[in-house]
Amino acid sequence: MQITGEMLIGARAVRGSAAVLRAFDPARGIEIEPPFGGGDRADVELACSLAGKAFDAYRNIPLATRAKFLEAIADNILEIGDVLIERTHVETGLPKARIEGERGRTVGQLRLFAALVREGRWLSATLDSPLPERKPLPRPDLRLQKIPVGPVAVFGASNFPLAFSVAGGDTVSALAAGCPVVVKAHGAHLGTSELVGRAIQRAASDNGLPEGVFSLLFGGGNEIGEALVAHPAIKAVGFTGSRRGGLALVDIASKRREPIPVFAEMSSINPFFVLPGALDKRSDAMASALADSIALGVGQFCTNPGLVILLDSPPARVFVESLSVALAKKEEQTMLTPGISAAYRAAIERRSKTSGVQDLAQGVQTDVSCPARPVLFATSAAGFLANAELEEEIFGPTSLVITCADIDEMIAVAEHVEGQLTATLQLEPQDYELARRLLPTLERKAGRILANGFPTGVEVSHAMVHGGPFPATSDSRSTSVGTSAIERFLRPVCYQDLPAALLPEPLHDDNALGLWRLRDGEFKRA
Ligand code: NAP
Repeated sequence: MQITGEMLIGARAVRGSAAVLRAFDPARGIEIEPPFGGGDRADVELACSLAGKAFDAYRNIPLATRAKFLEAIADNILEIGDVLIERTHVETGLPKARIEGERGRTVGQLRLFAALVREGRWLSATLDSPLPERKPLPRPDLRLQKIPVGPVAVFGASNFPLAFSVAGGDTVSALAAGCPVVVKAHGAHLGTSELVGRAIQRAASDNGLPEGVFSLLFGGGNEIGEALVAHPAIKAVGFTGSRRGGLALVDIASKRREPIPVFAEMSSINPFFVLPGALDKRSDAMASALADSIALGVGQFCTNPGLVILLDSPPARVFVESLSVALAKKEEQTMLTPGISAAYRAAIERRSKTSGVQDLAQGVQTDVSCPARPVLFATSAAGFLANAELEEEIFGPTSLVITCADIDEMIAVAEHVEGQLTATLQLEPQDYELARRLLPTLERKAGRILANGFPTGVEVSHAMVHGGPFPATSDSRSTSVGTSAIERFLRPVCYQDLPAALLPEPLHDDNALGLWRLRDGEFKRA
Protein backbone atom coordinates (compact mmCIF):
# COMPACT_ATOMS: atom_id res chain seq x y z
CA MET A 1 0.00 0.00 0.00
CA GLN A 2 1.33 3.41 -1.03
CA ILE A 3 1.55 6.32 1.41
CA THR A 4 0.50 9.48 -0.43
CA GLY A 5 0.38 12.13 2.32
CA GLU A 6 -3.34 12.72 1.75
CA MET A 7 -6.02 13.06 4.39
CA LEU A 8 -8.98 10.71 4.20
CA ILE A 9 -12.24 12.60 4.39
CA GLY A 10 -15.20 10.29 4.01
CA ALA A 11 -14.61 8.26 0.84
CA ARG A 12 -12.14 10.81 -0.56
CA ALA A 13 -8.40 11.29 -0.38
CA VAL A 14 -7.71 15.00 0.03
CA ARG A 15 -4.33 16.72 -0.09
CA GLY A 16 -4.29 19.37 2.63
CA SER A 17 -3.00 22.72 1.50
CA ALA A 18 -2.60 24.57 4.79
CA ALA A 19 0.88 23.23 5.63
CA VAL A 20 3.49 20.72 4.57
CA LEU A 21 4.09 18.20 7.37
CA ARG A 22 7.07 15.88 7.44
CA ALA A 23 7.26 12.50 9.06
CA PHE A 24 10.41 12.01 11.13
CA ASP A 25 12.67 9.05 11.85
CA PRO A 26 13.77 9.64 15.47
CA ALA A 27 16.42 6.90 15.38
CA ARG A 28 18.25 8.38 12.41
CA GLY A 29 17.26 11.97 13.14
CA ILE A 30 16.04 12.60 9.58
CA GLU A 31 12.81 13.53 7.85
CA ILE A 32 11.18 10.83 5.76
CA GLU A 33 9.13 10.86 2.59
CA PRO A 34 6.52 11.60 1.43
CA PRO A 35 5.41 15.05 2.59
CA PHE A 36 1.91 15.24 4.12
CA GLY A 37 -0.60 17.99 3.41
CA GLY A 38 -1.91 19.56 6.63
CA GLY A 39 -5.61 20.43 6.65
CA ASP A 40 -7.44 23.62 7.52
CA ARG A 41 -10.83 24.57 8.95
CA ALA A 42 -12.58 23.77 5.66
CA ASP A 43 -11.29 20.19 5.90
CA VAL A 44 -12.54 19.95 9.49
CA GLU A 45 -15.88 21.31 8.32
CA LEU A 46 -16.14 18.72 5.54
CA ALA A 47 -15.15 15.78 7.77
CA CYS A 48 -17.48 16.81 10.59
CA SER A 49 -20.46 17.57 8.38
CA LEU A 50 -20.07 14.20 6.63
CA ALA A 51 -19.87 12.55 10.08
CA GLY A 52 -23.04 14.36 11.15
CA LYS A 53 -24.85 13.26 7.99
CA ALA A 54 -23.67 9.66 8.42
CA PHE A 55 -24.74 9.38 12.04
CA ASP A 56 -28.39 8.28 11.77
CA ALA A 57 -27.68 5.90 8.91
CA TYR A 58 -24.66 4.34 10.64
CA ARG A 59 -26.29 3.90 14.03
CA ASN A 60 -29.28 2.19 12.44
CA ILE A 61 -27.44 -0.43 10.40
CA PRO A 62 -27.89 -3.99 11.74
CA LEU A 63 -25.55 -4.80 14.61
CA ALA A 64 -24.19 -7.70 12.57
CA THR A 65 -23.06 -5.28 9.85
CA ARG A 66 -21.42 -3.00 12.41
CA ALA A 67 -19.56 -6.00 13.83
CA LYS A 68 -18.48 -7.10 10.33
CA PHE A 69 -17.16 -3.58 9.71
CA LEU A 70 -14.92 -3.79 12.79
CA GLU A 71 -13.69 -7.23 11.75
CA ALA A 72 -12.98 -5.97 8.23
CA ILE A 73 -10.83 -3.18 9.69
CA ALA A 74 -8.84 -5.83 11.60
CA ASP A 75 -8.42 -7.94 8.45
CA ASN A 76 -7.38 -4.94 6.37
CA ILE A 77 -4.77 -3.88 8.95
CA LEU A 78 -3.26 -7.37 8.89
CA GLU A 79 -3.32 -7.33 5.10
CA ILE A 80 -0.99 -4.30 5.04
CA GLY A 81 1.60 -6.70 6.42
CA ASP A 82 5.23 -5.74 6.87
CA VAL A 83 4.77 -2.35 5.21
CA LEU A 84 2.88 -1.23 8.31
CA ILE A 85 5.38 -2.71 10.76
CA GLU A 86 8.32 -1.17 8.89
CA ARG A 87 6.74 2.28 8.61
CA THR A 88 5.69 2.36 12.27
CA HIS A 89 9.17 1.23 13.31
CA VAL A 90 10.81 3.98 11.27
CA GLU A 91 8.43 6.69 12.47
CA THR A 92 8.54 5.84 16.19
CA GLY A 93 11.91 4.21 16.84
CA LEU A 94 10.03 1.40 18.62
CA PRO A 95 11.36 -2.13 18.03
CA LYS A 96 9.54 -4.19 15.41
CA ALA A 97 8.64 -6.92 17.93
CA ARG A 98 6.85 -4.34 20.09
CA ILE A 99 4.98 -3.01 17.04
CA GLU A 100 3.95 -6.51 15.98
CA GLY A 101 2.65 -7.06 19.51
CA GLU A 102 0.78 -3.77 19.37
CA ARG A 103 -0.73 -4.69 16.01
CA GLY A 104 -1.94 -7.96 17.57
CA ARG A 105 -3.50 -6.02 20.41
CA THR A 106 -5.17 -3.58 17.99
CA VAL A 107 -6.62 -6.35 15.84
CA GLY A 108 -7.68 -8.34 18.93
CA GLN A 109 -9.35 -5.21 20.30
CA LEU A 110 -11.31 -4.71 17.06
CA ARG A 111 -12.49 -8.34 17.16
CA LEU A 112 -13.39 -8.16 20.85
CA PHE A 113 -15.54 -5.10 20.18
CA ALA A 114 -17.13 -6.83 17.17
CA ALA A 115 -18.19 -9.67 19.48
CA LEU A 116 -19.46 -7.11 21.98
CA VAL A 117 -21.55 -5.37 19.32
CA ARG A 118 -23.19 -8.68 18.32
CA GLU A 119 -23.88 -9.68 21.93
CA GLY A 120 -25.63 -6.35 22.59
CA ARG A 121 -25.57 -6.22 26.40
CA TRP A 122 -24.16 -2.68 26.18
CA LEU A 123 -27.54 -1.55 24.81
CA SER A 124 -28.79 -2.01 28.41
CA ALA A 125 -32.20 -3.02 26.99
CA THR A 126 -34.61 -2.72 29.92
CA LEU A 127 -38.36 -3.32 29.90
CA ASP A 128 -40.77 -2.39 32.70
CA SER A 129 -44.20 -3.82 31.90
CA PRO A 130 -47.19 -1.52 32.29
CA LEU A 131 -49.27 -1.90 35.48
CA PRO A 132 -52.66 -0.57 34.39
CA GLU A 133 -54.38 -1.62 37.63
CA ARG A 134 -51.81 -0.08 39.96
CA LYS A 135 -53.28 2.27 42.60
CA PRO A 136 -53.30 5.15 43.03
CA LEU A 137 -51.76 5.58 39.56
CA PRO A 138 -51.18 3.05 36.77
CA ARG A 139 -47.59 2.51 35.60
CA PRO A 140 -46.93 3.20 31.92
CA ASP A 141 -45.03 0.86 29.60
CA LEU A 142 -41.36 1.92 29.98
CA ARG A 143 -38.49 0.66 27.83
CA LEU A 144 -34.90 1.84 27.86
CA GLN A 145 -31.99 1.35 25.51
CA LYS A 146 -28.70 3.14 25.06
CA ILE A 147 -27.99 4.98 21.85
CA PRO A 148 -24.73 6.48 20.55
CA VAL A 149 -24.03 10.11 21.41
CA GLY A 150 -23.02 11.23 17.89
CA PRO A 151 -19.77 11.82 15.98
CA VAL A 152 -16.63 11.51 18.11
CA ALA A 153 -13.30 13.32 17.64
CA VAL A 154 -10.29 11.12 18.42
CA PHE A 155 -6.73 12.34 19.00
CA GLY A 156 -4.15 9.67 18.20
CA ALA A 157 -1.61 9.03 20.98
CA SER A 158 2.10 9.45 20.32
CA ASN A 159 3.08 6.45 22.44
CA PHE A 160 0.71 3.85 20.97
CA PRO A 161 0.91 4.34 17.19
CA LEU A 162 -1.51 1.46 16.58
CA ALA A 163 -3.41 0.48 19.73
CA PHE A 164 -4.23 4.07 20.74
CA SER A 165 -4.28 5.87 17.46
CA VAL A 166 -6.27 5.78 14.22
CA ALA A 167 -7.90 2.34 14.77
CA GLY A 168 -7.13 2.22 18.50
CA GLY A 169 -9.20 1.98 21.65
CA ASP A 170 -11.04 5.31 21.35
CA THR A 171 -11.91 4.78 17.69
CA VAL A 172 -13.07 1.18 18.09
CA SER A 173 -15.22 1.90 21.13
CA ALA A 174 -16.86 4.87 19.39
CA LEU A 175 -17.48 2.93 16.15
CA ALA A 176 -18.82 -0.01 18.18
CA ALA A 177 -21.25 2.32 19.95
CA GLY A 178 -22.52 3.56 16.56
CA CYS A 179 -20.66 6.89 16.46
CA PRO A 180 -18.87 8.12 13.33
CA VAL A 181 -15.26 9.08 14.08
CA VAL A 182 -13.03 11.92 12.93
CA VAL A 183 -9.38 11.26 13.86
CA LYS A 184 -6.70 13.90 14.22
CA ALA A 185 -3.52 11.95 13.43
CA HIS A 186 -0.56 12.40 15.78
CA GLY A 187 2.33 14.11 14.02
CA ALA A 188 4.71 11.44 15.38
CA HIS A 189 3.39 8.78 13.00
CA LEU A 190 1.73 10.31 9.97
CA GLY A 191 2.46 7.46 7.53
CA THR A 192 1.28 4.81 9.99
CA SER A 193 -1.89 6.85 10.44
CA GLU A 194 -2.55 7.02 6.71
CA LEU A 195 -2.00 3.27 6.24
CA VAL A 196 -4.40 2.40 9.05
CA GLY A 197 -6.84 5.10 7.93
CA ARG A 198 -6.99 3.54 4.48
CA ALA A 199 -7.75 0.17 6.08
CA ILE A 200 -10.75 1.73 7.84
CA GLN A 201 -11.87 3.67 4.76
CA ARG A 202 -11.86 0.48 2.66
CA ALA A 203 -13.73 -1.48 5.34
CA ALA A 204 -16.41 1.23 5.41
CA SER A 205 -16.91 1.20 1.66
CA ASP A 206 -16.81 -2.64 1.39
CA ASN A 207 -19.58 -2.83 3.99
CA GLY A 208 -21.71 -0.22 2.21
CA LEU A 209 -21.50 2.28 5.09
CA PRO A 210 -22.17 6.00 4.70
CA GLU A 211 -18.89 7.69 3.79
CA GLY A 212 -18.79 10.07 6.77
CA VAL A 213 -18.45 7.19 9.23
CA PHE A 214 -14.69 7.78 9.28
CA SER A 215 -12.28 10.60 8.43
CA LEU A 216 -8.61 11.18 9.12
CA LEU A 217 -7.14 14.67 9.33
CA PHE A 218 -3.53 15.87 9.48
CA GLY A 219 -2.48 19.14 11.05
CA GLY A 220 0.49 20.64 12.83
CA GLY A 221 -0.03 23.15 15.61
CA ASN A 222 -3.33 23.26 17.38
CA GLU A 223 -5.68 24.68 14.76
CA ILE A 224 -7.13 21.41 13.46
CA GLY A 225 -7.59 19.96 16.94
CA GLU A 226 -9.23 23.10 18.26
CA ALA A 227 -11.59 23.37 15.30
CA LEU A 228 -12.48 19.70 15.60
CA VAL A 229 -13.44 19.89 19.27
CA ALA A 230 -15.36 23.11 18.66
CA HIS A 231 -17.35 21.76 15.69
CA PRO A 232 -21.08 21.49 16.48
CA ALA A 233 -21.38 18.06 14.83
CA ILE A 234 -18.87 16.56 17.29
CA LYS A 235 -20.53 15.22 20.44
CA ALA A 236 -17.61 13.71 22.41
CA VAL A 237 -13.81 13.61 22.36
CA GLY A 238 -11.27 10.85 23.07
CA PHE A 239 -7.69 11.96 23.79
CA THR A 240 -4.42 10.53 25.12
CA GLY A 241 -1.47 12.85 25.62
CA SER A 242 -0.20 15.61 27.86
CA ARG A 243 -2.04 17.20 30.75
CA ARG A 244 -1.74 20.57 29.09
CA GLY A 245 -3.17 19.30 25.77
CA GLY A 246 -6.00 17.40 27.45
CA LEU A 247 -6.99 20.37 29.59
CA ALA A 248 -6.91 22.69 26.57
CA LEU A 249 -9.42 20.42 24.83
CA VAL A 250 -11.60 20.17 27.97
CA ASP A 251 -11.62 23.97 28.07
CA ILE A 252 -12.70 24.30 24.42
CA ALA A 253 -15.37 21.61 24.85
CA SER A 254 -16.83 23.22 27.96
CA LYS A 255 -17.05 26.67 26.34
CA ARG A 256 -19.00 25.51 23.30
CA ARG A 257 -22.60 26.61 22.89
CA GLU A 258 -23.36 22.92 23.50
CA PRO A 259 -20.65 21.66 25.91
CA ILE A 260 -19.54 18.09 25.25
CA PRO A 261 -17.63 15.46 27.24
CA VAL A 262 -13.89 15.04 26.74
CA PHE A 263 -12.42 11.70 27.77
CA ALA A 264 -8.80 12.73 28.12
CA GLU A 265 -6.20 10.35 29.49
CA MET A 266 -3.38 12.58 30.63
CA SER A 267 -0.91 12.11 33.41
CA SER A 268 -0.22 9.40 35.97
CA ILE A 269 2.84 8.45 38.04
CA ASN A 270 1.52 5.07 39.20
CA PRO A 271 2.66 4.64 42.82
CA PHE A 272 4.29 1.29 43.52
CA PHE A 273 4.23 0.24 47.20
CA VAL A 274 6.79 -2.32 48.31
CA LEU A 275 5.62 -3.76 51.63
CA PRO A 276 7.98 -5.39 54.17
CA GLY A 277 6.91 -9.03 53.65
CA ALA A 278 7.55 -8.77 49.92
CA LEU A 279 10.99 -7.29 50.63
CA ASP A 280 11.84 -10.22 52.88
CA LYS A 281 10.75 -12.81 50.37
CA ARG A 282 11.81 -11.63 46.90
CA SER A 283 13.79 -8.42 47.04
CA ASP A 284 16.24 -9.14 44.21
CA ALA A 285 13.73 -10.51 41.71
CA MET A 286 11.38 -7.60 42.41
CA ALA A 287 14.14 -5.01 41.99
CA SER A 288 15.15 -6.45 38.65
CA ALA A 289 11.55 -6.70 37.36
CA LEU A 290 10.82 -3.16 38.55
CA ALA A 291 13.87 -1.81 36.68
CA ASP A 292 12.57 -3.59 33.55
CA SER A 293 9.15 -2.02 34.02
CA ILE A 294 10.61 1.49 34.49
CA ALA A 295 12.73 1.19 31.33
CA LEU A 296 10.19 -0.72 29.20
CA GLY A 297 9.40 1.06 25.93
CA VAL A 298 11.85 3.83 26.99
CA GLY A 299 9.42 4.58 29.81
CA GLN A 300 6.87 5.90 27.33
CA PHE A 301 3.86 4.32 29.00
CA CYS A 302 1.13 6.10 30.89
CA THR A 303 1.36 3.25 33.41
CA ASN A 304 5.09 3.64 34.01
CA PRO A 305 5.89 3.17 37.74
CA GLY A 306 7.07 6.69 38.56
CA LEU A 307 6.97 6.44 42.37
CA VAL A 308 8.39 3.59 44.45
CA ILE A 309 7.28 3.82 48.08
CA LEU A 310 8.70 1.76 50.93
CA LEU A 311 9.26 1.78 54.70
CA ASP A 312 12.79 2.51 55.83
CA SER A 313 14.62 -0.64 57.01
CA PRO A 314 17.85 -2.51 56.22
CA PRO A 315 16.05 -4.78 53.69
CA ALA A 316 14.54 -1.68 52.06
CA ARG A 317 18.01 -0.19 51.63
CA VAL A 318 19.25 -3.42 50.06
CA PHE A 319 16.26 -3.38 47.69
CA VAL A 320 16.93 0.22 46.64
CA GLU A 321 20.56 -0.67 46.03
CA SER A 322 19.56 -3.64 43.83
CA LEU A 323 17.09 -1.46 41.94
CA SER A 324 19.80 1.16 41.37
CA VAL A 325 22.23 -1.47 40.08
CA ALA A 326 19.59 -2.96 37.76
CA LEU A 327 18.56 0.44 36.37
CA ALA A 328 22.16 1.51 35.88
CA LYS A 329 22.55 -1.37 33.43
CA LYS A 330 19.73 -0.07 31.19
CA GLU A 331 20.86 1.76 28.10
CA GLU A 332 19.93 5.19 26.88
CA GLN A 333 17.46 4.69 24.02
CA THR A 334 15.62 6.63 21.34
CA MET A 335 12.33 8.30 22.28
CA LEU A 336 9.33 8.81 20.01
CA THR A 337 10.04 12.39 18.98
CA PRO A 338 12.71 15.07 19.42
CA GLY A 339 10.19 17.08 21.48
CA ILE A 340 9.43 14.21 23.87
CA SER A 341 13.17 13.52 24.25
CA ALA A 342 13.94 17.19 24.95
CA ALA A 343 11.07 17.39 27.48
CA TYR A 344 12.40 14.29 29.27
CA ARG A 345 15.95 15.56 29.47
CA ALA A 346 14.83 18.98 30.71
CA ALA A 347 12.61 17.39 33.39
CA ILE A 348 15.46 15.12 34.54
CA GLU A 349 17.77 18.11 34.75
CA ARG A 350 15.23 20.01 36.86
CA ARG A 351 14.65 17.06 39.15
CA SER A 352 18.34 16.43 39.70
CA LYS A 353 18.62 20.04 40.91
CA THR A 354 15.65 19.80 43.27
CA SER A 355 16.67 20.14 46.87
CA GLY A 356 16.15 17.03 48.95
CA VAL A 357 16.31 14.76 45.88
CA GLN A 358 19.26 12.40 45.40
CA ASP A 359 20.36 10.94 42.13
CA LEU A 360 20.64 7.17 42.81
CA ALA A 361 21.48 5.73 39.41
CA GLN A 362 21.89 6.64 35.76
CA GLY A 363 21.68 4.23 32.85
CA VAL A 364 24.39 3.58 30.29
CA GLN A 365 25.06 6.49 27.95
CA THR A 366 24.97 5.72 24.22
CA ASP A 367 25.06 7.87 21.11
CA VAL A 368 21.46 7.30 19.94
CA SER A 369 19.46 10.18 18.58
CA CYS A 370 16.43 11.57 20.52
CA PRO A 371 17.87 9.95 23.67
CA ALA A 372 16.47 9.17 27.09
CA ARG A 373 18.80 7.82 29.72
CA PRO A 374 17.19 5.90 32.59
CA VAL A 375 17.54 7.71 35.92
CA LEU A 376 16.52 6.76 39.46
CA PHE A 377 15.94 9.44 42.09
CA ALA A 378 15.22 9.25 45.81
CA THR A 379 13.70 11.45 48.46
CA SER A 380 12.13 11.17 51.89
CA ALA A 381 8.39 11.14 52.49
CA ALA A 382 8.71 14.56 54.11
CA GLY A 383 10.56 15.88 51.04
CA PHE A 384 7.88 14.50 48.74
CA LEU A 385 4.99 15.88 50.78
CA ALA A 386 6.60 19.33 50.83
CA ASN A 387 7.20 19.69 47.08
CA ALA A 388 4.31 19.51 44.58
CA GLU A 389 6.79 19.44 41.67
CA LEU A 390 7.78 15.91 42.64
CA GLU A 391 4.30 14.75 41.67
CA GLU A 392 4.68 15.85 38.07
CA GLU A 393 4.80 13.07 35.51
CA ILE A 394 8.17 12.75 33.81
CA PHE A 395 7.36 10.87 30.62
CA GLY A 396 10.27 8.48 30.19
CA PRO A 397 12.43 5.84 31.94
CA THR A 398 12.66 7.32 35.42
CA SER A 399 11.25 6.79 38.87
CA LEU A 400 11.42 8.40 42.31
CA VAL A 401 12.00 6.26 45.41
CA ILE A 402 10.25 7.57 48.53
CA THR A 403 11.37 6.23 51.88
CA CYS A 404 8.83 6.52 54.69
CA ALA A 405 9.69 6.48 58.39
CA ASP A 406 6.55 4.54 59.33
CA ILE A 407 3.18 3.31 58.15
CA ASP A 408 1.45 6.59 58.90
CA GLU A 409 3.89 8.38 56.63
CA MET A 410 3.27 5.81 53.89
CA ILE A 411 -0.47 6.41 54.16
CA ALA A 412 0.16 10.17 54.12
CA VAL A 413 2.08 9.77 50.83
CA ALA A 414 -0.77 7.69 49.37
CA GLU A 415 -3.26 10.37 50.47
CA HIS A 416 -1.11 13.11 48.98
CA VAL A 417 -0.77 11.79 45.43
CA GLU A 418 -3.16 12.98 42.74
CA GLY A 419 -5.47 10.67 40.78
CA GLN A 420 -3.74 7.73 39.10
CA LEU A 421 -4.33 5.12 36.45
CA THR A 422 -2.81 2.45 38.68
CA ALA A 423 -1.51 1.74 42.16
CA THR A 424 0.54 -1.39 42.86
CA LEU A 425 1.08 -3.30 46.07
CA GLN A 426 3.93 -5.77 46.38
CA LEU A 427 2.91 -7.84 49.35
CA GLU A 428 2.88 -11.17 51.19
CA PRO A 429 0.24 -12.44 53.64
CA GLN A 430 2.02 -10.76 56.57
CA ASP A 431 1.46 -7.42 54.78
CA TYR A 432 -2.34 -7.76 54.49
CA GLU A 433 -2.98 -5.68 57.60
CA LEU A 434 -0.95 -2.81 56.18
CA ALA A 435 -2.58 -3.31 52.77
CA ARG A 436 -6.03 -3.07 54.39
CA ARG A 437 -5.06 0.35 55.74
CA LEU A 438 -3.82 1.52 52.34
CA LEU A 439 -6.63 0.15 50.19
CA PRO A 440 -9.40 2.68 51.01
CA THR A 441 -7.04 5.48 49.95
CA LEU A 442 -5.86 3.64 46.84
CA GLU A 443 -9.47 2.99 45.77
CA ARG A 444 -10.11 6.73 45.94
CA LYS A 445 -6.95 7.52 44.00
CA ALA A 446 -6.62 4.91 41.24
CA GLY A 447 -8.56 3.17 38.47
CA ARG A 448 -6.68 -0.14 38.79
CA ILE A 449 -5.08 -1.67 41.88
CA LEU A 450 -2.54 -4.43 41.27
CA ALA A 451 -1.08 -6.97 43.67
CA ASN A 452 2.37 -8.40 42.97
CA GLY A 453 2.41 -7.25 39.38
CA PHE A 454 3.82 -4.36 37.36
CA PRO A 455 1.57 -1.65 36.00
CA THR A 456 3.03 -1.54 32.49
CA GLY A 457 1.03 -3.93 30.33
CA VAL A 458 -2.72 -3.34 30.14
CA GLU A 459 -4.95 -6.29 29.26
CA VAL A 460 -7.80 -5.55 26.83
CA SER A 461 -10.75 -7.37 28.40
CA HIS A 462 -14.16 -6.87 29.96
CA ALA A 463 -13.01 -6.09 33.52
CA MET A 464 -10.10 -3.77 32.65
CA VAL A 465 -10.16 -0.19 33.90
CA HIS A 466 -7.69 2.18 32.31
CA GLY A 467 -8.89 5.39 33.86
CA GLY A 468 -8.82 7.15 37.19
CA PRO A 469 -9.40 10.44 39.01
CA PHE A 470 -7.93 13.68 37.68
CA PRO A 471 -5.28 14.19 36.35
CA ALA A 472 -5.06 10.55 35.24
CA THR A 473 -8.15 11.35 33.21
CA SER A 474 -10.61 14.17 32.83
CA ASP A 475 -13.53 11.87 33.70
CA SER A 476 -12.95 9.20 36.33
CA ARG A 477 -16.22 7.40 35.60
CA SER A 478 -14.87 5.71 32.52
CA THR A 479 -12.12 3.57 31.05
CA SER A 480 -10.34 3.95 27.73
CA VAL A 481 -9.22 0.29 27.54
CA GLY A 482 -11.51 -2.73 27.65
CA THR A 483 -15.07 -3.23 26.53
CA SER A 484 -16.51 -0.82 29.14
CA ALA A 485 -14.89 1.95 27.07
CA ILE A 486 -18.01 1.83 24.88
CA GLU A 487 -20.01 3.38 27.75
CA ARG A 488 -18.31 6.73 27.13
CA PHE A 489 -20.09 7.12 23.83
CA LEU A 490 -23.61 6.00 24.79
CA ARG A 491 -26.58 7.63 26.47
CA PRO A 492 -29.88 6.18 27.68
CA VAL A 493 -33.25 6.89 26.05
CA CYS A 494 -36.53 5.82 27.64
CA TYR A 495 -39.59 5.10 25.45
CA GLN A 496 -42.85 5.56 27.35
CA ASP A 497 -45.97 3.91 25.91
CA LEU A 498 -44.52 3.92 22.40
CA PRO A 499 -46.60 1.81 20.00
CA ALA A 500 -44.89 -1.53 19.25
CA ALA A 501 -44.58 -0.60 15.58
CA LEU A 502 -42.40 2.40 16.52
CA LEU A 503 -40.14 0.76 19.09
CA PRO A 504 -36.48 0.03 18.25
CA GLU A 505 -35.82 -3.65 17.62
CA PRO A 506 -33.83 -4.32 20.84
CA LEU A 507 -36.98 -3.43 22.79
CA HIS A 508 -39.50 -5.55 20.84
CA ASP A 509 -41.53 -8.00 22.95
CA ASP A 510 -40.33 -11.04 20.99
CA ASN A 511 -36.58 -10.26 21.52
CA ALA A 512 -35.78 -11.56 18.04
CA LEU A 513 -32.19 -10.34 18.50
CA GLY A 514 -31.78 -12.73 21.46
CA LEU A 515 -30.40 -9.99 23.74
CA TRP A 516 -29.82 -10.22 27.47
CA ARG A 517 -32.35 -7.74 28.85
CA LEU A 518 -33.52 -6.53 32.26
CA ARG A 519 -37.20 -7.47 32.09
CA ASP A 520 -39.31 -6.42 35.05
CA GLY A 521 -36.23 -6.40 37.23
CA GLU A 522 -34.89 -9.79 36.12
CA PHE A 523 -31.88 -10.20 33.89
CA LYS A 524 -32.81 -12.72 31.18
CA ARG A 525 -32.50 -13.54 27.52
CA ALA A 526 -36.18 -12.92 26.86
P1 NAP B 1 0.33 16.33 23.34
O1 NAP B 1 1.29 17.42 23.17
O2 NAP B 1 -0.69 16.50 24.40
O3 NAP B 1 -0.40 16.11 21.91
C1 NAP B 1 -1.34 15.09 21.69
C2 NAP B 1 -2.26 15.49 20.54
O4 NAP B 1 -3.12 16.55 20.97
C3 NAP B 1 -1.52 16.00 19.31
O5 NAP B 1 -2.23 15.58 18.17
C4 NAP B 1 -1.61 17.50 19.45
O6 NAP B 1 -1.61 18.15 18.21
C5 NAP B 1 -2.95 17.69 20.12
N1 NAP B 1 -2.99 18.88 20.97
C6 NAP B 1 -2.19 19.11 22.04
N2 NAP B 1 -2.51 20.29 22.59
C7 NAP B 1 -3.52 20.80 21.86
C8 NAP B 1 -4.27 22.01 21.93
N3 NAP B 1 -4.02 22.94 22.87
N4 NAP B 1 -5.24 22.22 21.02
C9 NAP B 1 -5.47 21.31 20.06
N5 NAP B 1 -4.78 20.16 19.92
C10 NAP B 1 -3.82 19.90 20.82
O7 NAP B 1 1.06 14.95 23.64
P2 NAP B 1 2.28 14.24 22.92
O8 NAP B 1 2.63 14.94 21.66
O9 NAP B 1 1.92 12.84 22.81
O10 NAP B 1 3.47 14.30 23.94
C11 NAP B 1 3.85 15.43 24.66
C12 NAP B 1 3.94 15.05 26.14
O11 NAP B 1 2.70 14.47 26.54
C13 NAP B 1 4.94 13.98 26.51
O12 NAP B 1 6.23 14.49 26.67
C14 NAP B 1 4.36 13.43 27.77
O13 NAP B 1 4.73 14.25 28.86
C15 NAP B 1 2.88 13.53 27.58
N6 NAP B 1 2.23 12.24 27.21
C16 NAP B 1 1.65 11.53 28.19
C17 NAP B 1 1.06 10.33 27.88
C18 NAP B 1 0.40 9.51 28.92
O14 NAP B 1 -0.12 8.47 28.57
N7 NAP B 1 0.37 9.90 30.16
C19 NAP B 1 1.04 9.85 26.57
C20 NAP B 1 1.64 10.61 25.59
C21 NAP B 1 2.22 11.81 25.94
P3 NAP B 1 -0.27 18.83 17.62
O15 NAP B 1 0.84 17.87 17.88
O16 NAP B 1 -0.60 19.01 16.19
O17 NAP B 1 -0.15 20.10 18.37
